[in-house]
Amino acid sequence: MKEIREEIRALKMQGITPGIATLLIGSDYGSRMYRGQVEKLCKEAGFNYINENPAATIDGAGVVGLVDRLNRDPAVSGILPLRPFPEHIPADTVIDSIDPQKDIDCFHPYNMGRLALGEPIFSPATPSAVIEILERYAREIAEEDPAEFFRGAEIVVVGRSNTVGKPIALLALNRSATISITHSFTFRKNNLAKHTSGADILIVAAGKPNLIGADLVKEGAIVIDVGINWVKVLDEEGKPILNEKGRFKTRTVGDVSFEEVKEKAGAITPVPGGVGSVTVRMLLKNALKACKIQHDLG
Ligand code: NAD
Repeated sequence: MKEIREEIRALKMQGITPGIATLLIGSDYGSRMYRGQVEKLCKEAGFNYINENPAATIDGAGVVGLVDRLNRDPAVSGILPLRPFPEHIPADTVIDSIDPQKDIDCFHPYNMGRLALGEPIFSPATPSAVIEILERYAREIAEEDPAEFFRGAEIVVVGRSNTVGKPIALLALNRSATISITHSFTFRKNNLAKHTSGADILIVAAGKPNLIGADLVKEGAIVIDVGINWVKVLDEEGKPILNEKGRFKTRTVGDVSFEEVKEKAGAITPVPGGVGSVTVRMLLKNALKACKIQHDLG
């Protein structure tokens, strides 16, 4: 954050303030949480922040019109669409309408293509956060050159979504790791353990609480839990506890059974407080880069 703040200060001396616009259609709970974090960090770092939150009843053309306005707004360096979109909104059309130079989470096919070629302009925020954590582990704990750390490392990724699992695998492959990607069909064929238990580095992004227990993890493996799930808090009899508003009390957990896996893993990231806490910083870095590109300073 210190580096980002210093760069912002230097840009402001030239009369430039980078800005991020989030686009939340409707009121998805996870997206609202993420939006709040982005706003908070933007304010802390000195970014402009624009909150676009049309009602879920807006149509596809309305959303594309909104994106078009943000594309042309010089105060907006980067646009972050928060997904999932309501079902009637054609996600591809909306993503395709984002100016690739403002696509700070690397959703646009142009930027995904660059990533696949190993020449990304913007690396997607959550996958970059995973890589950042591993690089920091290499430097500060394993005391190894991060580039060497990745070369030939046996990495298994659980989950293959275009926004999380697949770009994580691409970023690691671009660093010359040996990658296996597993997904729901691996699970259905009962082959998940076969892959995960051979991983030196296991990265889990499935959105399934307790998917990964100690039996699926190699002794001493590094485990990165990307999952964010909200589960009901139960009382001693296994009944859900209600909060003061009469709603189910929930807590945030990852995809990995943290307590049992931490005994076997060499290192493990917690949820909350692991990947998620680094993700927004990566997004801010991308917005800074976008701003510099747009002002021919990059
Ligand atoms: P998604 O639903 O789009 O994709 C889930 C992937 O997991 C799919 O590829 C699916 O095949 C796979 N999967 C599902 N069940 C499985 C099983 N039983 N075994 C093996 N693979 C299985 O979800 P997503 O957008 O990729 O997000 C994944 C998780 O990461 C979610 O919990 C999400 O909330 C979380 N997330 C975290 C951050 C962060 O900053 N920490 C950011 C984005 C998403």
